[in-house]
Amino acid sequence: MDTAFDIRSLYGQGRPAVSFELFPPKTPEGMESLFDQLQELVRCKPSFITCTYGAGGSTRDRTLDVLRAIRERHPQMPVVSHLTCSGASRDGIRAYIRSALDLGVSGVVALRGDPPKDAPGAEEPSEFRHASDLVELIRAEFPALAVLVAGYPETHPESPSVAADIEHLKRKVDAGADVVVTQLFFDNQDYFRFRDRCADAGISAPIVPGILPVTNLAQIRRLTAMCGAHLPGRLLRRLEVHQDDEEGQYAVGVYHAARQAEELIAGGAPGMHFYVLNKSRAALLICRALALFTPVE
Ligand SMILES: Cc1cc2nc3c(=O)[nH]c(=O)nc-3n(C[C@H](O)[C@H](O)[C@H](O)COP(=O)(O)OP(=O)(O)OC[C@H]3O[C@@H](n4cnc5c(N)ncnc54)[C@H](O)[C@@H]3O)c2cc1C
Repeated sequence: MDTAFDIRSLYGQGRPAVSFELFPPKTPEGMESLFDQLQELVRCKPSFITCTYGAGGSTRDRTLDVLRAIRERHPQMPVVSHLTCSGASRDGIRAYIRSALDLGVSGVVALRGDPPKDAPGAEEPSEFRHASDLVELIRAEFPALAVLVAGYPETHPESPSVAADIEHLKRKVDAGADVVVTQLFFDNQDYFRFRDRCADAGISAPIVPGILPVTNLAQIRRLTAMCGAHLPGRLLRRLEVHQDDEEGQYAVGVYHAARQAEELIAGGAPGMHFYVLNKSRAALLICRALALFTPVE
């Protein structure tokens, strides 16, 4: 990478900076489909695109494949790799970051991660305990990389208290994180309360809301069970009206996320990070509806 990616300067420029999050597909067909979706997503001129990293490094090579493919197809598009440190060695993390830098990756979403689902609690003792340990390593050894960290508007499920969670987030920012990207949430009051708590705690990094456009009921039940996000009764009831109608569920989800995004922007959110789940249409509809981008001619 020739120059440092000044990620902070993307936020607070008068219009919200949009980013998209992808995950590495498991099959060659999934990868092909992702490239088609990518083609659409870049038309939105996002500020950057991220790719997730499976717990314990399970997608290490596939994450790099996705990042490489984006760089090859869209050399101007900054890419950011998620990276989890739980169960990892320092040398393993260094080696991954060097590979990512060779591909032109501009930043890292520095995460602790969770134990693998098939063997919870059975991880090797880790050289990293918290995401802040990873932030410290990156800042000390790879200063040109932008560092993003996770924040939890509804508080991280393991945290003993709201205050403790904010204190731990502050530790990550004090260790050098540039930007906080939030866990998905469906009630904007959770975000606004969280942002105020961060400000009260002296966290000055941009707090970027993570938005998931719900595209079907089954998916949303699975995801909220996984990450602990609260699904407001009103949204759930609206989705259930369309129990047997996929298009109806889709419309409700896009409408809710668009309203969420509009209210967040009006309330001063500095950007919008869309969990697009490798499907471009919902996020693009929202970006177009809110004129969040100028399409490439
Ligand atoms: C934007 C975003 C992207 C994500 N991407 C991925 C991904 O690509 N791959 C993946 O596997 N997972 C991903 N996750 C999920 C994430 O790995 C989990 O939520 C995980 O449980 C916590 O990771 P963290 O980085 O927030 O951990 P941490 O910041 O380490 O926090 C984890 C818990 O420990 C507590 N804690 C932190 N520091 C301390 C301390 N010093 N002392 C005591 N307690 C402490 C916190 O309060 C919290 O309860 C993502 C989450 C978000 C919000």
